Amino acid sequence: MKIICIGRNYAEHAQELGNEVPKEPVIFMKPDTAVLKGNDFYIPEFSEDIHYELEVVIKISKGGKYILKENAHKHFEEIALGIDFTARDLQQSLKSKGLPWELAKGFDGSAALSAFYPKNQFNLNELEFELKKNKETVQLGNTQQMIFSPEDIIAFVSQYFTLRVGDLIFTGTPKGVGSVKDGDLLDGYLQGNKILDLRIM
Ligand code: MG
Repeated sequence: MKIICIGRNYAEHAQELGNEVPKEPVIFMKPDTAVLKGNDFYIPEFSEDIHYELEVVIKISKGGKYILKENAHKHFEEIALGIDFTARDLQQSLKSKGLPWELAKGFDGSAALSAFYPKNQFNLNELEFELKKNKETVQLGNTQQMIFSPEDIIAFVSQYFTLRVGDLIFTGTPKGVGSVKDGDLLDGYLQGNKILDLRIM
């Protein structure tokens, strides 16, 4: 299983980090060992600035390569919320040297996931999702604001990577990313229903 992630898929988030709004999806990957087990996220010793990024995640249900955009909806059946935990200090340092981001994005536990739900329960074009930190809203996103839709992303990435059943795609985060500290509680809501809760340790 591989975890494909999209960077800068919400214009206001790209701007909050001082990045250009992209013309093609910005892609990076996390290894399967990044999936967080349980509900406790331990701040790794190599970072002083771990950020949360709440994202809608899709799970590939049918593999393929060179998937056409018009067929892409047939390749996923379930969605979840995820947090793309990011060592922002390390990422900024790597970016400033023109180096790859993997150490800052792919470390153990950096991919937190809720349970998965059938996509046909939702209108994927207008999906509201929210992250509360210590009961206060810090991110409020809607998939309407995505620059690249899940179908765009599947069509794009499958030109490069064969998609397999079980692969996950983190579809990008809206504005409002920020840091966590020991003791913080993160709750993720999809269409107003809490489906993700994490404790920072
Ligand atoms: Mg992200």
